[in-house]
Amino acid sequence: MKCIYIDIDGVILGRNDPQSSDVALARHAQEFLEFCLQNYRCYWRTTHSRDGSIESIIAYLYPYMDAQLEDLVRQIQPAEWDFLKTDAIDFDQDFYWIEDQILSGERDQLIQHGKLDSYVFVDTRKEVVGLRRVGDLVGSSK
Ligand SMILES: [Mg+2]
Repeated sequence: MKCIYIDIDGVILGRNDPQSSDVALARHAQEFLEFCLQNYRCYWRTTHSRDGSIESIIAYLYPYMDAQLEDLVRQIQPAEWDFLKTDAIDFDQDFYWIEDQILSGERDQLIQHGKLDSYVFVDTRKEVVGLRRVGDLVGSSK
């Protein structure tokens, strides 16, 4: 099974209306996470957890999720990392990394490992149905 690394802000949380500043659960988030959990080994890669704990992620997402979504969120593994999300990526495994804002150091690491194609850009603040596109993409080459 390939790995998938999933960001939260700009990915799982986006906007319902790109003109509004209100944060919302991204459309299709639940079906996207269900699909990922069925087909990938799933890991969070978010600034809301750098210590390997899921509880800070749960607390952050709490206003946006119901019990069903929380159950999915808890099945995705958090990571320990400091500065670059890519430091906690296992480059020996095939993966996708779903992210709205890649840092130049992270891009450099992907390029060094020949894995720039594993990076999937989406910003669900602007592309409100972006997770449907990403779901189709990662579904077409599991
Ligand atoms: Mg983000």
